[in-house]
Amino acid sequence: MTPVNNEGIKQRLQAIRTRIDAAALSCGRNPDHIRLVAVSKTKPAQDIREAFAAGADIFGENYIQESIEKHELLRDLNLSFHFIGHLQSNKAKFAVKIFDLIHSVDSLKLARELDRQAEKINKIQNILVQVNISMEQSKSGVSEQEASDLVRDIGCLEHLSVKGLMTLPPFYNEPEKVKPYFKALRKLSDHIRGLDIPSVRMDELSMGMTGDFEAAIHEGSTLVRIGTALFGDRS
Ligand SMILES: *Cc1c(COP(=O)(O)O)cnc(C)c1O
Repeated sequence: MTPVNNEGIKQRLQAIRTRIDAAALSCGRNPDHIRLVAVSKTKPAQDIREAFAAGADIFGENYIQESIEKHELLRDLNLSFHFIGHLQSNKAKFAVKIFDLIHSVDSLKLARELDRQAEKINKIQNILVQVNISMEQSKSGVSEQEASDLVRDIGCLEHLSVKGLMTLPPFYNEPEKVKPYFKALRKLSDHIRGLDIPSVRMDELSMGMTGDFEAAIHEGSTLVRIGTALFGDRS
């Protein structure tokens, strides 16, 4: 227990929440409609405890093995884990047990396996479809063109519920430069909502990280995924 560090996380969380609220109000949005996903990948369970004590309740993780360990260590807390990393189909059975929302579904193969595993444990698994708006080779996600078809196909899977879209734009130090990507994701979400696909909702837009979350909020983000600003640099 290091009180200095404890205070650090608490103060940083408050500062982030203040910035989220200010960004929402500055564009006429209700701050309550923007949820913070505290990205805790590579950070110890103790950091999650401290952030939880300070008011964070959703934690984003990228790696299944690490998530299994933390989930076990933090069983006593009533917190919610979201998966935001690249998910392999052979890890789907672990993912459905741990995560309330999986942000990164980007293929029908993965969706089918998640559906199969969710059925086994009698769960409706909430998911987002990850879209590679910038079409960078290095990023996962379906293209904008493929997204509607994938959402439609997933809509037929009984144990998955599509809640919206997620994107990870190219990294820029200038938030202004990522705005077009956020805008494109919002337009795509509006388009898919207009298709009125049964059992598909487009309520959530997962976009915005430490360097650009205010810009993302201006473009309609409902889930901002923030790691560094809260937990510090990852080594
Ligand atoms: C690591 C990660 C984040 C958090 O990034 P920060 O810049 O540390 O806020 C957000 N989203 C995804 C998908 C990530 O992998």
